[in-house]
Amino acid sequence: MKIVFWGVRGSVPTPRKDVLGYGGNTTCVQVFAGGQEFIIDAGTGIIELGHRMISEPPRGFTLLLTHLHHDHTQGFPFFRPAFSAGFGFDVYAGNFFRKSAREVIADSMSDPYFPVPLNSLASRITFKEIAFDNDHHLVEGLCDGAVDALRLFHPREGVVVYRFREGEKTLVFATDCEHYPGRDELLEPFIRNADIFVYDTMYTDEEYKKGNPPKIGWGHSTIEHGLKLASRCSVGKLICTHHDPAHSDAFLDEMFGKAREVFPETIGAYEGLALEV
Ligand SMILES: [Zn+2]
Ligand SMILES: [Zn+2]
Repeated sequence: MKIVFWGVRGSVPTPRKDVLGYGGNTTCVQVFAGGQEFIIDAGTGIIELGHRMISEPPRGFTLLLTHLHHDHTQGFPFFRPAFSAGFGFDVYAGNFFRKSAREVIADSMSDPYFPVPLNSLASRITFKEIAFDNDHHLVEGLCDGAVDALRLFHPREGVVVYRFREGEKTLVFATDCEHYPGRDELLEPFIRNADIFVYDTMYTDEEYKKGNPPKIGWGHSTIEHGLKLASRCSVGKLICTHHDPAHSDAFLDEMFGKAREVFPETIGAYEGLALEV
């Protein structure tokens, strides 16, 4: 199994000199698992990934969306494989959004926002909904058994966390999930013993609780909570992502340096980071 990071910034693309070490593009990663290729989220990181893919032979793959906020969908209209015959992909998203993924992307690719409509693209795109209901937050065995999906909490409609399995190995990608009291009981069994656990560590506890303004209820977690989950659930590696646009490379270097004193296998995700398990 392999994961490659193409966008690691939270909330808004951040093309500023002091963040270029980690990178300014919003969420997008590529995952290879069970002989399949996945892309998670279509933040602006997917644009560069698309440029890479278009230079390679056309192929099929699966796009998994965690949720439909701008920073996870905004790169889609500039994703070149979508415009290219020969490429084909399924797009998965939760069934609990007021507008479906197809509607949101079609809206973003319509006048007056964008000149090329979704239904004119040359690739084959199929939208699929992941069927959660109020009593069941977990859907297992998507994509020929390679992917499990867990619905978590993120303002206002929720977010999907994905787990990939290949043989004994597991990788979890969990962004945009806040650690409201009592809610870890869903996430903890999902990440237990994962070889790689990617987590939203947008804030420090200090910023979360005492920032100006505090960030409680904004839908994101903290580095301290990520470290607690990683230790408690015996994960192999903690990969931190969805970096706050305000956090410079120097700030993040210090934050992850301190984190490694608590959980040595901690890495701050940066554009280009590739990990294999
Ligand atoms: Zn986000
Ligand atoms: Zn979000």
